[in-house]
Amino acid sequence: MREMIDIVGGSIAGLSAGIAFERLGFPTRIWERDNPIHSKDGHAFLVLGSALGSLQHLGIAEDLRNTSANIQRGMYFDNKGDLIKSFDLQDTFGTKRIDLVRILTSKYSGRLHYDCDLEKISFDDDYYTLEFQSGEITKASTLIGADGANSRIRKWLYPNHKLHTGGYFEIVGSCENANIVKALDNSFQKHFSQDHMNENHIAFGILPTGGDDLTWFLQIPVTVPEQVNDLYNVESREKFLQELTANWSSLTAEAIESTDTHSTYVWRSGYMDLLHTFHFHNMFLIGDACHPLLSMTSQGVNTALEDAIHLAQLFNDNDLQDVGNLFYSNRKDVIADRIEYGKHLADRFTKQPEQWVKMVHLAD
Ligand SMILES: Cc1cc2nc3c(=O)[nH]c(=O)nc-3n(C[C@H](O)[C@H](O)[C@H](O)COP(=O)(O)OP(=O)(O)OC[C@H]3O[C@@H](n4cnc5c(N)ncnc54)[C@H](O)[C@@H]3O)c2cc1C
Repeated sequence: MREMIDIVGGSIAGLSAGIAFERLGFPTRIWERDNPIHSKDGHAFLVLGSALGSLQHLGIAEDLRNTSANIQRGMYFDNKGDLIKSFDLQDTFGTKRIDLVRILTSKYSGRLHYDCDLEKISFDDDYYTLEFQSGEITKASTLIGADGANSRIRKWLYPNHKLHTGGYFEIVGSCENANIVKALDNSFQKHFSQDHMNENHIAFGILPTGGDDLTWFLQIPVTVPEQVNDLYNVESREKFLQELTANWSSLTAEAIESTDTHSTYVWRSGYMDLLHTFHFHNMFLIGDACHPLLSMTSQGVNTALEDAIHLAQLFNDNDLQDVGNLFYSNRKDVIADRIEYGKHLADRFTKQPEQWVKMVHLAD
């Protein structure tokens, strides 16, 4: 009988790890802070064609195809509505985060403990002691940290390793609008504001996410940090969006008008420099806990799935004592590349938007 593997974080990385380990005969249990009834759903993301192998491996490709929008093209427009760039996309989905989490949850048959907010972790005698806010305490001999960009487990291991911001922030919203979804015609689009070649350029992305649903996001360089703080207030955000979109194309303005501003949020995507190792004894970090990536890369989901599947395979094929070093040596280059790609994109977006438009190619 193999030993229990404890996973902290029951989102994309944690649930994928649960499924991948289960398939190889490892018992797992997941500790998740949120409760599915009360949890914040999130909005949506692009799941790129490069994730298809991982989705198939986990047995969820068809479920995802059935709940998501099939994205066949990326299209970029200037402020006059003229097409700047168009490129084909294969096996790419516009997916609501909550749909992906639900599908993964339905495929996982281990124990999922909700309302378990990990507050403290310690290591002694080859065991990790996990203390939850609820007062529950458990001991783990093998642990996977899949607790997202602000991971407590990573902070315990690397208290001085900092998250950096990408120099831009996003306002993200979702709505239902059959007209817009029809007009998008299975494309993911980006529209640039009036002065996108000047200092205050802004990008507006719009993504169908299944049925008549869509998610949009405004990307804005942070030139005035106080302005961002102000936007956490819903009334200020509403005013900002109205003023901003007054002269915009009907598609972008209509998407914002169709959205309840209370359901939008301000997001400052961050990244971290590559960690020196992804493990500590029998504890392993995966997904955003290990390497938060800037949203512009569209690689967060894909990388989390790859980490989970690869780690499970290494457990199956090797002595446990070798897994940490193998996991690091096999994953570090691809992760370092995605960190650098994100930094490069963000740098171009905030400083040289005309170069940014040329270099974005999503299907990597
Ligand atoms: C609420 C939410 C909404 C999101 N919305 C979007 C979006 O709209 N678009 C987008 O591109 N990306 C979004 N993301 C990020 C996206 O899911 C990740 O970038 C990516 O999928 C990698 O997944 P992950 O499992 O590594 O991290 P995450 O998806 O961040 O998952 C981390 C999980 O760990 C849990 N957790 C955190 N701390 C603790 C703790 N102390 N104890 C126990 N559990 C803990 C969290 O509740 C979460 O379920 C969102 C993430 C969250 C948590």
